[in-house]
Amino acid sequence: MSAPLLHGCVLGAGPTGALAALALADAGWHVSLRDPLPAEQLVERSRAYAFTHSSRELLQRLGLWDDLAAVLVPFRQLQLRDFGSGEGCQFETEDLGLPRATANAVGWIAQHRPLMEALLVRLEAHPAVRLQLGPDPAGESRVGPEPAADLVVAADGPASPSRTALAIGQWQLAYRQSCLTAQVQLRGGKDDEAWELLRPEGPFAVLPLGDGRVQVVWSAPASRCRQLERLPATAFLDHLAAVLPDRLQPDVLLDHPRSFPVALQLARRLHRGRTLLVGESAHRCHPVGGQGLNLCWRDVAVLHGLAGRVARGQLAPDRIGAAYSWRRWPDLLLTLLVTDLLVRLFSNRHPLVVPLRRLALAALARWAPLRRLLLTAMTFGPCRGRTASPQ
Ligand SMILES: Cc1cc2nc3c(=O)[nH]c(=O)nc-3n(C[C@H](O)[C@H](O)[C@H](O)COP(=O)(O)OP(=O)(O)OC[C@H]3O[C@@H](n4cnc5c(N)ncnc54)[C@H](O)[C@@H]3O)c2cc1C
Repeated sequence: MSAPLLHGCVLGAGPTGALAALALADAGWHVSLRDPLPAEQLVERSRAYAFTHSSRELLQRLGLWDDLAAVLVPFRQLQLRDFGSGEGCQFETEDLGLPRATANAVGWIAQHRPLMEALLVRLEAHPAVRLQLGPDPAGESRVGPEPAADLVVAADGPASPSRTALAIGQWQLAYRQSCLTAQVQLRGGKDDEAWELLRPEGPFAVLPLGDGRVQVVWSAPASRCRQLERLPATAFLDHLAAVLPDRLQPDVLLDHPRSFPVALQLARRLHRGRTLLVGESAHRCHPVGGQGLNLCWRDVAVLHGLAGRVARGQLAPDRIGAAYSWRRWPDLLLTLLVTDLLVRLFSNRHPLVVPLRRLALAALARWAPLRRLLLTAMTFGPCRGRTASPQ
């Protein structure tokens, strides 16, 4: 049985939708990618994402790695510090348990603009992709799916209009913490070193962007984030210096700090009819451990494998939703649970919990197999076998 011409419609050209469109096209589908924002606005955000080897594997399968490697800054060490217990440990590439040739970085950091620009260049050049970005010149709304599409991929973000239109509810837990991001010129750091600082007010990440620049991802009570956001640059840098480890000295604030609410969200179903929820339209988690976009891209990895099977006539198009959901649930549930547990366990100075954390971190610092277990789970997701692209 060989499949007829297949047509997918991707709603949302954020980092998930853009990659999903390339994945469908790579699997042999014709794709239209729709977003109400024009390309200039899609690339505009001041953000940086942490990528793990699960995202690297997908980019390699899609033939995008060589293009994107130019905009990815590798880090080879990850410093973990628990400020409540005073313990810490360092993860290195050896802790990944990957072949030496592959394990040249613990992970990578990419800024939103160059990442999206690179994805949009590939989308524009792909003969099977039709880009429909920005308001329709005829004044018609392009926010809905195309009626003739065999598959609709709703990658329209956490407020997903598609999820609402399909009456798919979600579980939601708003954290008391918000997250503030800012780019800073730093002295004393290394360009190949990232930090995850577990502070009683919330986790704090320092992500290297190259040439001494870093992005800080600062979780703290919402009121404190709003206060930090309004500070003049010098006062902000003073507050930042007070929370960073001694050897890291912030010199210059490079953009305007912005805070956003953090929440755990999970759609009650991942598909309805011919529509799949992919990326943050289906799930959102706390930024601790840099899991967010990697989890979204693991959705895309599964979609890629299933779309290929449909294109080869090995799977009926109307079975793709059920197969996608079955494969994604375990990774989504476990990753959301782990990030939530990390936030709860480490954002406090509880006298019963702090000694346990000290013990756990001392064990991590001492035993390489334990570091490998944790780093592998944070890199590939807690259930790697199930999330590998089904061929
Ligand atoms: C202020 C802020 C700062 C952040 N900073 C960081 C950070 O520094 N590091 C990090 O890792 N993560 C950060 N995040 C989270 C990160 O942005 C998300 O993980 C990521 O954007 C998810 O990608 P996505 O493509 O699934 O969704 P989105 O990026 O939200 O993309 C959804 C797209 O869908 C489009 N859309 C909406 N409605 C429709 C419709 N009806 N039809 C078609 N398209 C539609 C939107 O225009 C948008 O382009 C931040 C989030 C926020 C809100």
